[in-house]
Amino acid sequence: MKLLTGRKNFVLHFCVLAAIGAFTARAQDASNPWPKDPYYANNRKPDDRFKADLLVVVAHPDDEIMAAAYIAKAIEEGKRVALVWTVRGNGGTNDVGPEQSDAMGDIRDVEGMRAAASLGITNMWNLGGTDTPTQNPLESLETCSHGRCLDRMVRIVRLTRPAAILTWLPLGVTGENHGDHQAAGIMATEAFDLAGDPTAFPEQVAPAREPAQNMNRTEGLRPWQPQKVYYFSNPTHMDFFAGQGPEYPTTDISPSRHISYRQIAEAEFAFHRTQGGGVMEDPIPLATPSQFILGKSLVKCGVTEDIFAGLIPEGIPYQRAPGFTAGIDSAPVLKIGGPWSFYRQFWQAHGLEHLGRLIPDEVSIQVGGVLSFPLIVENPSDQVIKVSFQVQAPEGWTVTPVPDASIDAHSSYYLRLVAKAPSSKLPGWQQFKVSAESDGRNLGSVSLRIELADWALPQ
Ligand SMILES: [Zn+2]
Repeated sequence: MKLLTGRKNFVLHFCVLAAIGAFTARAQDASNPWPKDPYYANNRKPDDRFKADLLVVVAHPDDEIMAAAYIAKAIEEGKRVALVWTVRGNGGTNDVGPEQSDAMGDIRDVEGMRAAASLGITNMWNLGGTDTPTQNPLESLETCSHGRCLDRMVRIVRLTRPAAILTWLPLGVTGENHGDHQAAGIMATEAFDLAGDPTAFPEQVAPAREPAQNMNRTEGLRPWQPQKVYYFSNPTHMDFFAGQGPEYPTTDISPSRHISYRQIAEAEFAFHRTQGGGVMEDPIPLATPSQFILGKSLVKCGVTEDIFAGLIPEGIPYQRAPGFTAGIDSAPVLKIGGPWSFYRQFWQAHGLEHLGRLIPDEVSIQVGGVLSFPLIVENPSDQVIKVSFQVQAPEGWTVTPVPDASIDAHSSYYLRLVAKAPSSKLPGWQQFKVSAESDGRNLGSVSLRIELADWALPQ
């Protein structure tokens, strides 16, 4: 009986598909000036409804508030803006009802769409990642299923064909300490450099085999090279933004709405009722001008010029990113590890080395929390080496001693300095410095400055 039901379903399903196919083919024929050309659809121009001038990529529903005032201004000036969230916002707490976890994610999907629509955005996608409550972007990339999210990210760039991308700064800064945010910036940057490469996710840019039939398994997109990428962030200190990119006052009045772009942004945030109950908890991002950092431009333009300055309307050819080149150490050396090590490689791979010169390595640690400072000793020599470590720590911290290490020839040795933070806030930067020594030879030192915070995510 079950088998019969299954067979009936299959037959019905097949008939429906066939009917849809016939209908679709007729509809296509109606718009096809060469009805006998079965490949006509493959050779249409890309769907203009999805063309964007600016693609904004953020992590959680509500992150778009970071650029909402600017987005409202850009839309007012006739720019087409599309939006991507990389995670669903299924963590955190709900300020409205009892719904939590995935149910809250479903709510935040809708809140996000309503909020974005209030700015005039009509094309928006959520990559479906899950909230990851740490400061480490590598953990966020893992929980987002990096490959799956990047596949979608590149597809959306090819679908929307943005001239510019605006996203979270791929750099750990105090205050802006959410790995999900940084991971969104990392994937947007990767997509910037991959979408124009036809060998990256080639199934996306392969024309359909039988475009007039159902069930094609390649996508028929075109490679697309965005021209500029800009970043925003929300740190406890904005000093390093000066001169790094354009600024836009949020107090300008929208000619069509007769209120300031800041007010439009505040109204946008009010749609995120599960986060603040419809009230902005922290108006700081809107109290200042919208400040952006130029990541890179593949067209001629000044660092602080307008986001849309210098763009070439018809688009530009693919430009390969510099890529990663492994450095060769000639002698044993101590290096910083974890996300800081990753970022040094990432910036090099994507031609963003200037981001590494913006600030010293830093991190927020909650009062009474734990610092976990990742370190690497590279031993390129032919000998096993014995290494000892010296730690300079600020007063008030409880440091776990770092044991000596025996490190094999031609190997990397990973370790961490662990220190418990004071239980009350201390002013100023908390400076840590770790040095390494082997047989009386200095292997160098690494430093990290810490800002004690009332609240911070774990590292
Ligand atoms: Zn967020």
